[in-house]
Amino acid sequence: MKKPNIGVLALQGAVREHLRMLEDCGARGIAVRYPAELQLCRGLIIPGGESTTIGKLMSAFGFIDEIRLLWREGVPVYGTCAGLILMAKRIAEGGRPLLGLMDITARRNAFGRQVDSFETDLEMKGIAESNRPFRAVFIRAPWIDEAGPEVEVLGEFGGRVVAARQDGMLVTAFHPELTGDDRVHRYFLAMVEEASRSRAAAETGG
Ligand code: GLN
Repeated sequence: MKKPNIGVLALQGAVREHLRMLEDCGARGIAVRYPAELQLCRGLIIPGGESTTIGKLMSAFGFIDEIRLLWREGVPVYGTCAGLILMAKRIAEGGRPLLGLMDITARRNAFGRQVDSFETDLEMKGIAESNRPFRAVFIRAPWIDEAGPEVEVLGEFGGRVVAARQDGMLVTAFHPELTGDDRVHRYFLAMVEEASRSRAAAETGG
């Protein structure tokens, strides 16, 4: 079977690590620098980094409407950390949402200065069960303050939602690409497979 092309938005942040992990999972990772390249992608990852910077570059390069369109066409989108913030419909404390795709309220730098960065073992629904939790790396991470009824919570830490899914969208507040554990990427690739199948079925009218 042909390897699926998965785009990684390559404006700023942890791009290379995602590309490598996608290749390890048997997909083809594409560094997306221009909106036209989105047409090649069956899934898109928005990496962690600095959400303000990535957001400015996304606007400047004309990515906002193009990513919204891609998602509406049924192509799954996965945001890690800053990517989560960029996908949120609402930002706590009056921050400005950017893509406004997912029915969540993201709180930036939510874990505060004391615990700027940390690692923890996380149970994730359908991804990492309690007997083999996911080692999650948080770096100035956001959390999800509120999630709408359509949002499925996949992971919590300290009573806060840190991983979730809704309609072809996946978000994690942490960085799975920085670990050797590819289960979150494989989960996203399964979402991509499922979405490709339903688009193909819709096209053939079946
Ligand atoms: N604190 C960053 C922001 O608000 C996100 C950090 C990250 O992506 N690791 O954009």
